[in-house]
Amino acid sequence: MNKGLLIIVSGPSGVGKGTVLKELRAKNPNIVPSISATTREPRNEDTEGVTYFFKTESEFKKMIDRGEFMEWAIFSGNYYGTPREYVEKNLNEGRDVLLEIDVQGALKLMESGAEGAYIFIAPESLDVLRQRLRGRGTEAEDEIERRVKAAEWELKQKDKYDYVVVNRVVRDAADEIENIIKQSK
Ligand code: 5GP
Repeated sequence: MNKGLLIIVSGPSGVGKGTVLKELRAKNPNIVPSISATTREPRNEDTEGVTYFFKTESEFKKMIDRGEFMEWAIFSGNYYGTPREYVEKNLNEGRDVLLEIDVQGALKLMESGAEGAYIFIAPESLDVLRQRLRGRGTEAEDEIERRVKAAEWELKQKDKYDYVVVNRVVRDAADEIENIIKQSK
């Protein structure tokens, strides 16, 4: 049996990653989303073991020490990491696994030599990103500027990825990713 494909997707906060990936998964129910561990507080939409495994900082650090993560990073003051076992089991059983991780984590994975399709979802421009962050109304203006600043650095890393998909229309971006996955097999 062929091994599954590891699909790594990153993109700045507000770019619409979640919506694009939801569309992709609706059309490709065979793609297995990896479940990360994190130290951030659960939000209303979160379910333990479904959206994340919620850990204390001390539990998370023990997992790091035991080598349980494929990659991990600190994002906005919290730890996030990809538990290795679940991902490898699914890949070995021939299923494609989707990692939605931040840019630092993706760069670490590349450096570790992990093979896969590395995809960066980019906004049309920083101005469009700023408008989207304002539009969703969940962040104060200073937090919006912080995220736009972070996005400037993230966008500078985009050429290290195998593919850059610009999210103009959700449907088109999801189709583009679907084609990338087909090509990568
Ligand atoms: P949120 O707190 O909004 O769920 O996620 C914040 C950021 O952490 C997003 O950019 C998300 O892609 C990233 N993230 C989620 N899980 C992981 C992970 O396992 N590793 C890394 N490096 N980033 C992650």
